[in-house]
Amino acid sequence: IDDSDQPGSRVVPEACFSRIRALQPLVRPVFVALSQSALSLLGLSAQEVLSDPLGPEYMSGSRLLPGSEPAAHCYSGHQFGLFAGQLGDGAVMYLGEVESCAHGRWEVQVKGAGVTPYSRYYGDGRKVLRSSIREFLCSEAMAALGIPSTRAASLVTSDLYVSRDPLNNGQRILERCSVVLRVAPTFIRLFGSFEIFLGRDEFSGLQGPSAGRDDIRAQLLDYIGGTFYPEIQQAHSIRKDRNLAFFRAVMTQTARLVAQWQCVGFCHGVLNTDNMSILGLTLDYGPFGFMERFDPDFVSNASDKKRRYSYQAQPSVCRWNLARLAEALGSELDPAEAGAVLDEFMPTYKAFYLSIMRKKLGLVRIEEVEDRELVSDLLRVMHNTGADFTNTFRLLSRVPWPEEGDSERATVGSVVDLILDELAMILSLAQTNPLMYGMVADSPGMTEQLELLGRLKELVETNQDDLKRKQRDDWIHWIGRYRMRLGRECDSTSDLPVIIKERLKVMNGINPRVVLRNYIAQNAIQAAEKGDFSEIVRVLKVLKKPYSDPETLFGPDGCGEMEHSGAELDVAYDGKPPAWAQTVCVT
Ligand code: AMP
Ligand code: MG
Ligand code: MG
Repeated sequence: IDDSDQPGSRVVPEACFSRIRALQPLVRPVFVALSQSALSLLGLSAQEVLSDPLGPEYMSGSRLLPGSEPAAHCYSGHQFGLFAGQLGDGAVMYLGEVESCAHGRWEVQVKGAGVTPYSRYYGDGRKVLRSSIREFLCSEAMAALGIPSTRAASLVTSDLYVSRDPLNNGQRILERCSVVLRVAPTFIRLFGSFEIFLGRDEFSGLQGPSAGRDDIRAQLLDYIGGTFYPEIQQAHSIRKDRNLAFFRAVMTQTARLVAQWQCVGFCHGVLNTDNMSILGLTLDYGPFGFMERFDPDFVSNASDKKRRYSYQAQPSVCRWNLARLAEALGSELDPAEAGAVLDEFMPTYKAFYLSIMRKKLGLVRIEEVEDRELVSDLLRVMHNTGADFTNTFRLLSRVPWPEEGDSERATVGSVVDLILDELAMILSLAQTNPLMYGMVADSPGMTEQLELLGRLKELVETNQDDLKRKQRDDWIHWIGRYRMRLGRECDSTSDLPVIIKERLKVMNGINPRVVLRNYIAQNAIQAAEKGDFSEIVRVLKVLKKPYSDPETLFGPDGCGEMEHSGAELDVAYDGKPPAWAQTVCVT
């Protein structure tokens, strides 16, 4: 490893991967948590990993299994819109690939295992407990939601310490070095892995005189095509046709992924080109966040002052990133044809989005225009009334079918009350403390938020009843429209009880009861930092069954993860977030 530090990332010429020659073991590594379902992809069981005294060493890259050849990947990237040149795995090492009979072939990585040739300036290649807990929990939560993601099989912490924020009130805070073992079919980046070839002429001569930059790019393309898109590889004998079909497949997967994010209120936080996967997996969990109050302008990353990666920007950012991939593929693609594929991105995204939203509303039939309006109207009412994204969708399954019983009015009213209850809490908090309104002092758009709060407060103080009435009316109006639409789901030949049952099944299988809200992760982090890992295990168990009702979650067979004893399983994390949740800030 060459550690002659230069400002910026260290430049490693003529490389796509660098072997790591010396490991940097943790000190007294211990398991914090394991994910049985991710381990089983590798043909492992939690029990056998736990029973091996060297388990934490193997799973943290502190000791190598026979055959393992650690390496770090060299990639580039556009960060916040600008080409940042070479980046690379600065805190991640490949351990190799595992081929398991039942589950196929998996790349295995350790994140936080020490310095690599690509560690950025002053980068130590380490990760601390809090960021590792967030990555571990969210990887597994996304997979359980059915959203493509890299997986996390284990989380190890240690008695090795690192200081992440060098100065905090003049004090150095030491945190435990921790390592997540990540698993994915491949970690090749959608864009960054190809962008590395932009402007790097030194690749000429890498593999003999004929192997220039373009040849190596072609090899990487063939490897990915042959391994992950074999049907495309077989269907096209002409190279350019094959590449175009590959680009279209990547475009489609990316469109599907971002539609899934939008439909669950997930904000990635750092959608740089190097943080997106070639397979359309959610990759690199940093300052991500699940939206609470619905706000299209929501930003999860408090350091994203320009709101480049806001919730509503995610689809167009993904398209922008795909355009960078097309550029990086250069002569491998016909520019006009690639442009036409890019033009398909937004319609493809919108079709995925609408079809998921239809399921979220329990609709099976397609009414193109009405459904689009129904959804945008719902989001508008949610925005105007400050409704919680996750809880509102989960509650919609309680809206009664038009023809259902006499008590239907009462039920519509109670759904509206539940949704509005969220808002009442937020407004009363806002009156007592603006910080509690989610406005962290240096968060983006602080001024606008304060202004809005001022106006809201005024409104509330002068005419609280009117405001409440208006919000109630908005909801009742929307629910009325929704119920009419529900009514059109069946005709005279339909079996209504079957349709009603089917609707509940569809809705409760796609609207999660629980997502990894920041405060839930924060609870687990605080306990873990005091040495109590039971909260992480409990949160993992809840997140693994995001669609189940709490009573089924902790039943006699509701386990499967590492067991823990004694903890009261009373909180299923499906209620309103507590007041302090609004102050959690991630960067
Ligand atoms: P990210 O913002 O997580 O996508 O990271 C941007 C770049 O910084 C990547 O090249 C990372 O590998 C590198 N990096 C992140 N954390 C560290 C660290 N602790 N030490 C060295 N490099 C890092
Ligand atoms: Mg990254
Ligand atoms: Mg990162």
